[in-house]
Amino acid sequence: MPTEQRTCLQCGNSIRGRVDKKFCDDSCRNAYNNQQNSTSNNLIRNINHALKKNRNILESIIPSGEELGKTTKDKLLFQGFQFKYFTHSYETKKGSQYMFCYDFGYLKLEGDWYLVVKGKER
Ligand SMILES: [Zn+2]
Repeated sequence: MPTEQRTCLQCGNSIRGRVDKKFCDDSCRNAYNNQQNSTSNNLIRNINHALKKNRNILESIIPSGEELGKTTKDKLLFQGFQFKYFTHSYETKKGSQYMFCYDFGYLKLEGDWYLVVKGKER
């Protein structure tokens, strides 16, 4: 039987045996899978963190007791707001698109101004 030279995805040692084998043994397979899992867990954790931070920044812009606030793009960026992360968007009948981070949303206005709103239950 021809043997093909392959290397373990985890440790890089050469493997012999079945053609579909990717690891030299179970411990290499487990180590590799754990690493893959922790990579995606870290990614999820970082995005969740960014979303919560975005939400808290939006909340801080609305004066207490009010429903709306206004800010600029520069101020949002300075506070660490990351525009690429949002939980959902909402388009009004007039075509304005609000982007939400959980219960707080924003709408881009003229220039670099942003309107910040507290979401209502729908
Ligand atoms: Zn190995």
